[in-house]
Amino acid sequence: MQQYDKNNIFYKIINKEVNANIVLEGKHFIAFHDIAPKAPVHILVIPKGLYVDYNDFALNASDDEIVDFNRGIAEIVKIMRLENHGFKLISNAGKFTTPDFPEPQSVMHMHVHILGKSSEE
Ligand code: 5GP
Repeated sequence: MQQYDKNNIFYKIINKEVNANIVLEGKHFIAFHDIAPKAPVHILVIPKGLYVDYNDFALNASDDEIVDFNRGIAEIVKIMRLENHGFKLISNAGKFTTPDFPEPQSVMHMHVHILGKSSEE
């Protein structure tokens, strides 16, 4: 796994150097709307800690960070009213792709995509 490089857009969002449309911020995470949504609701959840990808986070973050992050996802599902239609969680790590999932990780700061449709729609 590569070393964390602070020269990425999510690092700038955490440090408020770049604006994002924030849905929820917790002690250890920030959740905001994806700039190029691929579903009616497309939220990105990122830890405030500096982790390259999901495995880096799962292996090296504290229990507190991991619990806060995952509860944050559940909170967002509730806030965005995604339960009725269901939702997807996706975390791209590294270069791997398949024809059905042709996009590799493009931002090298751990993130989970929440894709869904609000029950208001
Ligand atoms: P990845 O391809 O690494 O799994 O996902 C990165 C995601 O970040 C993409 O869906 C892309 O649209 C989103 N993204 C890239 N730059 C920005 C930005 O400046 N603001 C926001 N809100 N999303 C971004």
